[in-house]
Amino acid sequence: MNKDDINNINDKLKYSSPQEVLSWAVSEIGCDNIAFATSLGAEDQVLTHILRSMKADVSIFTIDTGCLYAESHDLIQETESLYDFKYEILTPESYAVEEMINTHGKDLFYKSLELRKLCCRLRKIEPLKNKLSSLDAWICGLRRDQSITRTNIEKVQWDEVFGIIKVNPLVDWDEKKVWDYVKKYKVPYHKLHDRGYPSIGCEPCTRAIKPGEDVRAGRWWWENKEQKECGLHQKMDTSS
Ligand code: SF4
Repeated sequence: MNKDDINNINDKLKYSSPQEVLSWAVSEIGCDNIAFATSLGAEDQVLTHILRSMKADVSIFTIDTGCLYAESHDLIQETESLYDFKYEILTPESYAVEEMINTHGKDLFYKSLELRKLCCRLRKIEPLKNKLSSLDAWICGLRRDQSITRTNIEKVQWDEVFGIIKVNPLVDWDEKKVWDYVKKYKVPYHKLHDRGYPSIGCEPCTRAIKPGEDVRAGRWWWENKEQKECGLHQKMDTSS
C-alpha cells in the first residue's frame, strides 16, 4: 500500500464511524493479519466493546510491562469476563529487564530521558515489535486531541516505526464522546480514571493530573511535552 492508496482510503473513510473503520479494516486486511493493541484506557475499552459487539475474530492484546497498577490487572479480568474473550498478554524478556535493573537501578526512568526510553524499549517496544512482525496492520485507540504529539494522525496511516499499517478508528473523537459512549454502553473502565488519571500507563511513570492540566500531563510528568511518548506511537530511534 503506497501513500496515494492511504490518502484515498482516508478520503473514503473521512466521515465513517469507528465501527465502519473497523469493518473496513477487518474485511480488507483480514482478521488473521490485524490485531488490536490495548493499553486499557477509556478509548481502548470503547474499541474493545465495538470489536466484541461486531463479533470480529480479531486478537486483542496488551503488554504487561511488569509495572502495571493492580487496577489494570483487575480491569483485564473484568473485561474478559464481561465480553467473553481472553487478551493476548505480551511480556518483556525477563533476562533483558533484569540486566537493565542490575546495571541502572530499579528507578532508572527518573535518571535521564535515555534511560527512560531504554526501559520503555525493553518493557514495551520490543514485545510489541515482536508481535507486530507477524501482522499487516494494528489497531490503536489514539485521538488527535490527546496531545501535541498526536495532532497529525489519520484513521489509516503507514506506521514508520513498525513498517505496517496502523488503524486509528477514534482519531476524530473528543474526550466527551468517549465517555458518553462508555456510559451509554456501560463499558468497564479503569478505576483510576475516577481518581484524576485520564491517561494510565506504568505505575512509576503515571500520576494524577491537576484541574486544567493536559490529559497526558500525568505521564512522564518530569519530561518536556514533546518527549511524552514511549515510542509505540512515534517515529523514534529504537536502537538506543
Ligand atoms: Fe518503564 Fe516507565 Fe516506560 Fe513503563 S512507562 S516501560 S516503567 S519507563
